[in-house]
Amino acid sequence: MAEFDVDLFVIGAGSGGTRAARIAAGHGARVMIAEEDRIGGTCVVRGCVPKKLFVYASRFAEDFEDAAGFGWTLDSRPTFDWPTLRDAVANEVTRLSGLYRKGLEGAKVAVREERAVIEGPHSVRLVKSGETVTARHILVATGGWPSFDPPIPGGELGISSNEVFHLPTLPRRMLVVGGGYIALEFASLFARLGVAVTLLHRGDNILRGFDEDIRTRLRDALAHAGVTLRLGCTIERIEELADGTRRAHCAQGAPIEADVVLVATGRRPNTRGLGLDKAGVVRGPLGEIVVDAASTSNVPSIHAVGDVTNRVNLTPVAIREGHAFADSTFGSRSWTVDHATVASAVFTTPEVGTVGLSEGQAVDAGHEVKVFESGFRPMKATISGRHERTYMKLVVDAANDRVLGVHILGHDAGEIVQAVAIAITMGATKADFDRTVALHPSAAEELVTMRSPRAG
Ligand code: NDP
Repeated sequence: MAEFDVDLFVIGAGSGGTRAARIAAGHGARVMIAEEDRIGGTCVVRGCVPKKLFVYASRFAEDFEDAAGFGWTLDSRPTFDWPTLRDAVANEVTRLSGLYRKGLEGAKVAVREERAVIEGPHSVRLVKSGETVTARHILVATGGWPSFDPPIPGGELGISSNEVFHLPTLPRRMLVVGGGYIALEFASLFARLGVAVTLLHRGDNILRGFDEDIRTRLRDALAHAGVTLRLGCTIERIEELADGTRRAHCAQGAPIEADVVLVATGRRPNTRGLGLDKAGVVRGPLGEIVVDAASTSNVPSIHAVGDVTNRVNLTPVAIREGHAFADSTFGSRSWTVDHATVASAVFTTPEVGTVGLSEGQAVDAGHEVKVFESGFRPMKATISGRHERTYMKLVVDAANDRVLGVHILGHDAGEIVQAVAIAITMGATKADFDRTVALHPSAAEELVTMRSPRAG
């Protein structure tokens, strides 16, 4: 008789949990995974994937307009049908969730579609079936959940990004609260789908933590795209009018009326009611599971990966953490994830792509920096006539010529930055960029043709 029912019990079948389960099973571990929602987790079901499909839909609006400058005539004015998009995206999510399940089953992972809670360092209870499973290792990969903290009166009249994918009709007016990834992506895409969007943010500028030059240029681009920006405004309460309209009252300025209020004020680790206290697992101020570099908590048999640890809250990071945990615990190779140089994108239009340190972060870290930048009108806009600019910035360490950060605002910024992140991870210097021959004509060639640092 084995000492435990399984070698690994994974709670949460999102990106991190699924990867860990499959890799561990591949190393010969007996693995069970429990998911109380849909298999695939936030990214697949209510995050990155459906959002990116919405972004694609939104960009057709400008493509139709731009086509005219290139000689195309559309016989009638293009119209947009929300249910077609919403349902097509929902079907794709269902297909992907099915693939995730197949992948788990193919790897011989036992799948339980119900909530699981921790009973002790080696024990998990499946809530619906009442089954108790003992495990040599428990991995918590329960992700995060939208939060509006502190709550405000009428806060429940808003929706979160969980619900935005299922709106019965396309609203005429939308109020988006927040100035981070989710708020900006949805403000940008709904504005292009024809919704009158107001973005309400408590800070003086959007995207706190990003490079200042990117923040300001994106702010201006969103305003130019028709998003009404109410910055430096704190929302105080939301009320519902007789016709269903939401009226949001702010500490500064007039109230704002909208059909939908999308609240995107951050996410919190999903640890409530999981039984972590019962097992003695230490949590941080936001409820996150505190783990070491090997993703192990203070209880040696309990581990955690992904957003529930509140390290770098991005899908590919969770996947890598899950993979490293499974290899290190059940395979022959022990490794940890380097969280230092993780590229990310904000899928607004224009898009933001960023890797490494912002200019401000580099200076704060004590580097003497040289900044190279380029702002230009993209080639396509010369004929389409669209008012748009691409911006690229390199933050270089003056002491050793190393490129510390690359920041791009413009078409395909995410795609470009993913490739350039390889060079940054390898420790590329500005001289390496300079000796790279340009690919012409492209926007990305600007990265290797900037010669003079910004004065001052
Ligand atoms: P973010 O942490 O990015 O942004 C939260 C925003 O809400 C900030 O602008 C913050 O303001 C504001 N805020 C926080 N609390 C309040 C409050 N009580 N009242 C008013 N405003 C408030 O969170 P998101 O929800 O946008 O995204 C969550 C996470 O999901 C991100 O951290 C990111 O890692 C991930 N994500 C990644 C995406 C991508 O890679 N493209 C896309 C979507 C999500 P302030 O700046 O002042 O704190």
